[in-house]
Amino acid sequence: MTAMLARAQRDRYAVGNFNVYSYETIRGVLQAGAATGRPVIVAFGERYLENMSFGTVVAICQTVAANLDVEYAIHLDHCKSLDNVYRAIKAGFTSVMYDGSALPLEENLANTAAVVTVAHALGVSVEAELGSLASGANSQESEDNEQQVYTDPAQASGFVARSGCDALAVSIGTVHGSYQGEPNIRLDILAGLREKLDTPMVLHGGSGTPDDVIAACIAGGITKINVNTEISLDAATRLKESLAESTPHLSVISGRIVDYVTASVTGYIQQFSR
Ligand SMILES: [Zn+2]
Repeated sequence: MTAMLARAQRDRYAVGNFNVYSYETIRGVLQAGAATGRPVIVAFGERYLENMSFGTVVAICQTVAANLDVEYAIHLDHCKSLDNVYRAIKAGFTSVMYDGSALPLEENLANTAAVVTVAHALGVSVEAELGSLASGANSQESEDNEQQVYTDPAQASGFVARSGCDALAVSIGTVHGSYQGEPNIRLDILAGLREKLDTPMVLHGGSGTPDDVIAACIAGGITKINVNTEISLDAATRLKESLAESTPHLSVISGRIVDYVTASVTGYIQQFSR
């Protein structure tokens, strides 16, 4: 992921990070990457371990990608458990996000640095988080009551230097899930962060963020954008509509989900690459 984000930073676009939970979603994301000729980040969060194991995610990615021409990273999204970070690395994930954003600063820093030491020894990239996103409707990433804490530019540069992380998730007003009310994205904070940081910055909560704001964030130095909620909502809505007409075989439903995810992800990749 580090090399992907370095190229994105140099050429001023953002790489899409798309959440997966099944064979269909993995195939949809990888097909969209192949169709657009753009790198993609296949992201899997520990909350979906009930759906599939880390090893299953890696095996499906590798077997599906073997038949496609696509550059991809297998990324662990928002992981609060150090045990799970190391399990994912052992299973073959190529990048991990350790999320210590809810912890006191020094504890977040110490844990992130410990993860970096192990991950870098194994050639794995590390994303860290400083500050905290609020949660909107249908959020899958955060607790219901999470409050917005903007990332402090003065704190961020020291955090990155001391932890050694490869990418930093910043909190500038996007929310996990869908917005309730008008989004208020603080581009001034992003500009302050860019002044202090050379590290690739990550925007979480891409769902529902207006196109012009996304473009301004990419111009302001965001090189990775995470989208989860909207892709799931879009595919589920289209599936519901198609099932209202008939009750097809499960094999047909599986194919439709792949198609819906591919189409939705393709749209985001094109938007982030403009
Ligand atoms: Zn997130």
